[in-house]
Amino acid sequence: VTSQDAMLQASGVSIRFGGLKALTDFNLTVRQGDLLGLIGPNGAGKSTAFNVLTGVYQPTEGEVRVAGQKVNGWVPHQINHLGLARTFQNIRLFRALTALDNVKVACRAQGALHPVKLGQVAKVGTALRNYRDWWRALLLTPGFQREEHELTRQAEHLLEVMGLSHRRDEEAKNLPYGEQRRLEIARALGTRPKVLLLDEPAAGMNTREKADLMVLIRRLRDEFSLGVLVIEHDMKLVMGICETITVLDHGETIARGAPAEVRSDRKVIEAYLGD
Ligand code: ADP
Ligand code: MG
Repeated sequence: VTSQDAMLQASGVSIRFGGLKALTDFNLTVRQGDLLGLIGPNGAGKSTAFNVLTGVYQPTEGEVRVAGQKVNGWVPHQINHLGLARTFQNIRLFRALTALDNVKVACRAQGALHPVKLGQVAKVGTALRNYRDWWRALLLTPGFQREEHELTRQAEHLLEVMGLSHRRDEEAKNLPYGEQRRLEIARALGTRPKVLLLDEPAAGMNTREKADLMVLIRRLRDEFSLGVLVIEHDMKLVMGICETITVLDHGETIARGAPAEVRSDRKVIEAYLGD
C-alpha cells in the first residue's frame, strides 16, 4: 500500500428511502493522510453517506470500495475488518462498560495480534440482550485470557491519546458528553482503521472543546497514518483543519474544493442561508 492508493472509494453511489433521494451520485476518494470534510445543512445526506459507506445501508446504485475491495452487500463488521471505522452522530457506546472495556472490546474485535473470529462472537452475541452480555461473550472466545494484558495496554494507550486516562474505570454512561464523544473515537481507533469516519464529533461541545478536538483529529491523522473524513454541520470548524471539503445539499454534491473556494461558492452560501 502506498499513500497514493485509495483506501475508501465511492463511485456513483445513490440511495433512496421510498420516494426520497437521500444521496445521489455520490463520489469520494479517501487516501492515507487525507483529512477531508463533509458538510451541508441538516438533512443533506451526510450521515446517510456514512451509513452507505460502512454497510449500514446498501446503495440503490453505485459501488463502494475499501482497500480496493468492492464491499457492496457486506455487513458493517466485515467492512470494519478491511480498515474502515466510524463514530455515530448519536453516541453508541457500550454504556454499562467502563471506558477501558469499551476500547478493549474494539481492540479485541480487530486486534492485529490474534484476530478474534468475529462470527463466533456474533453467534454468541445475538442470543444475548445487552452490551454487558456481549462483552461476556467476548470473554468466552478462545485466547482471550492470553491476550488480555496486551489488550489492556493498547486500550490504555488509546485512552491516553484521547485524554481519557482519568476515566479508565468509569462506566461510559457516567462520562460527561464531550468525553463520551472522545471515547467513541478511542473505540473506533481500537479496531486499527486505515480510514476513520467521524460523524459530527464536536456536536454538543462548547467552543473551546470543539477547537481542541479539531487539533486532536489532525494529530490522530498523523500519529495513526489515517485517512480521515469528518462530518460537521459548522462550516467554520472543518474549514480550519480540512484540506478538501465536499458539500452536500438534498443528497447532491453541490461543491468540492479547498475551504476558501467552498466558502465563497454561491450554491453553498444559498444552501446554508436556506437552512
Ligand atoms: P444529515 O446527516 O446530512 O443531517 P441524513 O443523512 O441523516 O442528513 O438524512 C438525509 C435525509 O434522509 C433526511 O431527509 C432523512 O430524513 C432521510 N433519512 C435518513 N435515514 C433514513 C431512513 N433510514 N429512512 C428514511 N429516511 C431516512
Ligand atoms: Mg447527520
